Amino acid sequence: MISDNLKQVKSRIDSVQFSQKVELIAVSKTRSTAEIQEAVDAGQVHFGENYLQESIEKINFFKGSGLIWHFIGPIQSNKTSSIADNFDWVHSVDRIKVARRLSDQRNPALGALNILIQVNVDREESKSGVEIQNVEEIVMEIESLPNICLRGFMTIPRPENSKNSFAEMKHLISKYPNFDSLSMGMSSDLEVAIEHGANLVRVGTDIFGQRSYN
Ligand SMILES: *Cc1c(COP(=O)(O)O)cnc(C)c1O
Repeated sequence: MISDNLKQVKSRIDSVQFSQKVELIAVSKTRSTAEIQEAVDAGQVHFGENYLQESIEKINFFKGSGLIWHFIGPIQSNKTSSIADNFDWVHSVDRIKVARRLSDQRNPALGALNILIQVNVDREESKSGVEIQNVEEIVMEIESLPNICLRGFMTIPRPENSKNSFAEMKHLISKYPNFDSLSMGMSSDLEVAIEHGANLVRVGTDIFGQRSYN
C-alpha cells in the first residue's frame, strides 16, 4: 500500500538526527495518475518526474490540486519551454544555456522558477551535471538571470561512495550561505543524505514499489 509505504519512509526520515526541515519528494516517473492519487490522498504534496511527456499529462490531470512538481530528469534544451510552464522546481540544470532558456521562457506571472544545479560529484562520464571545480562560474552566471531563483544543488552520487560524496556536497553548499536547498538521497540512502544536510529527498521505489519500464 502506497499510504503505508509513505508512512514508513517518513518514519525513516524522522529517525535520523537533523536540524533542517526535510521535504519528501515522491518520484512518480512511470507511475499512473491512480497511483499518484493514492499518495495525494495520504497527504503527499511534492512529486518528482524525469520524463517530460508523461509528466505533462499527469500535471494537467492534477491541475488545481495544489501539488508541487519537481523536474529531476535530463533536460534537452529544445524542451525547456514546457518545463518552464509546468514545473515549480527544476533539479537538473547542468548548463548555462538551459538556465537561460528556462529564465526566458518562464511566464513571470507564475513567479520565479526554483532551480538547482546538478553536480556530478563523482566525475562520472555517464552522468550529467557540473563538476565541482566549475560550479562557482555557473552559479555566478545563473544568479544574474531573471524569472528563476537559484536555490542550491542536486546530486546523484555513485552508490558505493555516497557518504563521501554527500559530505563533499555539504562542504560545497556551505560556501553559498544564500542557498537553502540540497537535493540528495533516494530510497536506499536517504538517511545518510539527510545526515549530511539534504533537505529535499527524492524517493520512488520505497513509496510506489519496483518500477517496470515496459
Ligand atoms: C528515479 C530517481 C529517483 C528515485 O529513485 P528510487 O531509487 O526509486 O528511490 C531519485 N532521483 C532521480 C534523479 C531519479 O531519476
